[in-house]
Amino acid sequence: MIVASGSKVGRKMLERLLRKIEDRLAERKKVRNFKFGESWEEEVRELFFVPEFYDLIEKTHNFKQNRIDYVKSSLNPDYKFLCIYTNREIYVECKARDITKMLKKTSDFLDEYDKLANVDPKKQQQLDKENKYLQLLDLCSKEQFLRFKEISNETKVVFMVLLTSDHTYREDVISLIPIDELLSHQVFYPQILQYKIAESEVEPHQLWRNFVLFYVLPAHCIRCKKKIKYNNYNPFCFDCWKDWYNFKHFMHVEKFCHACGKSHGTTSIKPLCLDCFKKFPINLGLK
Ligand SMILES: [Zn+2]
Ligand SMILES: [Zn+2]
Repeated sequence: MIVASGSKVGRKMLERLLRKIEDRLAERKKVRNFKFGESWEEEVRELFFVPEFYDLIEKTHNFKQNRIDYVKSSLNPDYKFLCIYTNREIYVECKARDITKMLKKTSDFLDEYDKLANVDPKKQQQLDKENKYLQLLDLCSKEQFLRFKEISNETKVVFMVLLTSDHTYREDVISLIPIDELLSHQVFYPQILQYKIAESEVEPHQLWRNFVLFYVLPAHCIRCKKKIKYNNYNPFCFDCWKDWYNFKHFMHVEKFCHACGKSHGTTSIKPLCLDCFKKFPINLGLK
């Protein structure tokens, strides 16, 4: 992750992003315009978590109601559904973010960065350092995130359906993000893109297949060695994660390898010992 790594890693990530922007420019078409705010919530119900597959159990009060009469449940996710086929409950939070400014800034940054190449490497390095949080998005408030994590810890099934949209290229991206996989309410855009979905992927057979994939591999908490599921993005048990979240120190040295559980100086962004890193099939993203 850019937060903790040197400029080389940040640069690599930005290059990847630039490629994605170029892909989009080549396409130059927008499949559909989604709506922001409360309308987005409604669209999530109408288009993704449809009545055909999901019964609505709870809907959290909207913002207008909250202003008059603040309810604690507004910290809860927007929806609680019952999957008709599996009889399991799912929480769903709907969020929408306009990323026009972020993409423009990234593009400006890369132009500037390229201009400085071979001319002033020192200035280039400085620029890189100053822009390491460029692509960081706030998904929700810290309080809300803590609440989502608590529910996720109890039920294991809290998803965020995130819409990211920009005015320049007019293409919306929809990501289905399991809250359990996030370390923080602040997430880098490339990670969000890894959860990109098509509408059909929310149909139960797809959703639960994804779900099984997320949860199938056993592993260890890198701080206390407790047995947990494998998760390259969040290699902590819930209690240790809570401690970690207070400080959000990505490079804090932990005690165990996430995969084999052997003693090893790991970190939240490098949770594997060298042996496991070499052989483990899922070394997604954060290299
Ligand atoms: Zn732990
Ligand atoms: Zn290991």
